[in-house]
Amino acid sequence: MDMLINGTAAPAADETWIEVTNPATGECIDRVPRGSKEEVNAAVEAADAAFGEWSKKTTRDRGLILYRAAELIRRDHKALAALLTREQGKPIRESTDEVRGCANIFEYYASIAGLPAGETVTLGKAGDCLVTRVPLGVCAAIIPWNMPVLIMGWKVGPAILAGNTLVLKPASTTPLTNLRIAGLMQEAGLPQGVLNVVTGPGETTGAALVQHPRVKKISFTGDCATGHRIREMTKDHLKVLTLELGGSDPMIVMADADIPKAIEGALRGRFYNAGQICTAVKRLYLHEKIAEEFMRLLTAKAESLTVGNGLSPGTDMGPLNSAEQLGRINSVVSETIGRDEGVIRTGGYPLTGSGYSKGFFYKPTLITDVAPDAALLTNEIFGPVLPVVTVPDLGAAIREANRSKYGLGASVWTKDISTVKRVYDEVNAGIIWVNRHLIVPPEVPFGGTNESGVGRENGSKALDSYTQSKTMYLGW
Ligand code: NDP
Repeated sequence: MDMLINGTAAPAADETWIEVTNPATGECIDRVPRGSKEEVNAAVEAADAAFGEWSKKTTRDRGLILYRAAELIRRDHKALAALLTREQGKPIRESTDEVRGCANIFEYYASIAGLPAGETVTLGKAGDCLVTRVPLGVCAAIIPWNMPVLIMGWKVGPAILAGNTLVLKPASTTPLTNLRIAGLMQEAGLPQGVLNVVTGPGETTGAALVQHPRVKKISFTGDCATGHRIREMTKDHLKVLTLELGGSDPMIVMADADIPKAIEGALRGRFYNAGQICTAVKRLYLHEKIAEEFMRLLTAKAESLTVGNGLSPGTDMGPLNSAEQLGRINSVVSETIGRDEGVIRTGGYPLTGSGYSKGFFYKPTLITDVAPDAALLTNEIFGPVLPVVTVPDLGAAIREANRSKYGLGASVWTKDISTVKRVYDEVNAGIIWVNRHLIVPPEVPFGGTNESGVGRENGSKALDSYTQSKTMYLGW
């Protein structure tokens, strides 16, 4: 598997490769080149060279290519989903959702070709202004490993529809499906150089890309610390930054909630993709009147989840994506228990032995009686571990929900509209779900406040972030 530069396969500059491991088995399934600075330069040059022609096409023509790419993704969805499961670990049902989700995003952007619309400003005797939206130039997309296909769609769809060209760096543990989809985009008619993929470590390949002077915009999704590093690295250049840096989403369940529905919401919200989602339910706040019964039912459900290889039918939850992730989760849980900062209700250990051999599996875990300053509540926990806190009333739930440096999403489960309004007004987050969590369709703007990042992806507004206004002032 090679990089795609200028639309053609580029050989590795040297014999150094990154091995891609199946997290369910620990086996190497493929390898990709460790892209050098020269390869990053070549990719940016290819994108720069393609920009002139591409930016002059009509948005309808660009949208048609996205539409065709979506058709090809749907044609190949089974193979793409299997590849995604093999490199990422998630159950095949979730990989299929994600692959289809990418096709949905491309179709959505194809359907709004024509946006972003400009405007006219009339100034009376002083003249008239025609304000158009023009693309930025070469953009960079840095992709994480948790939802690599969906996030590729979020970045590639609006960037190229708006007339930009792009260099994409996949995560080193999940580059394969991104490369396969880039190939399908070529098959759909995307001209050479419009989308270039460079594989390699973030610290070198990614850093060279974000610092390249001809890159006008960086759209990054990943760890908060990496986001800050990117900001630091680019402080001497005026680049547009969209940083989606994760979250610690609270889920608040009030006494009047539909309890079975809320239990399903918590289960899916925390254990989908083995908890490795920026908007996963990362803190559960239960009203004291329903807490005991809720926990009894939720614990039984969590214990009944089948953990295993994502390719096996019947698997509810796959492994974590890497040995590092497993190590992080295991440490945070051990430290919490060691410091007496929580009580394990179920789980709390890696799964080993028959069926789990060399994979990175962790038991779905619920922890109650969590100390207010425990890392489980203050940090982003990117795995299948849910800390649960009992609250006496809505005011306490909102106070606890806001005791976080993040502000990505939050949900409230209730039938009372005044509760909904209060949570919407008072909880810091980019999206407040009501009786739902986790779902972000292509039409909906997505992004957070505080340490969750800057900028929005998804929806028609994402197009704005890949364009700038240009004004013609007509002084009659
Ligand atoms: P990173 O932020 O390190 O990785 C995300 C992407 O950024 C990868 O493509 C990575 O490349 C790249 N990258 C890393 N360093 C740089 C750099 N200096 N310059 C440019 N690009 C860079 O996340 P991790 O994979 O290390 O995960 C660590 C933690 O981050 C997780 O436990 C989780 O808490 C959080 N996270 C949150 C995500 C979210 O969606 N909210 C997604 C992923 C992680 P490479 O893969 O080669 O390192």
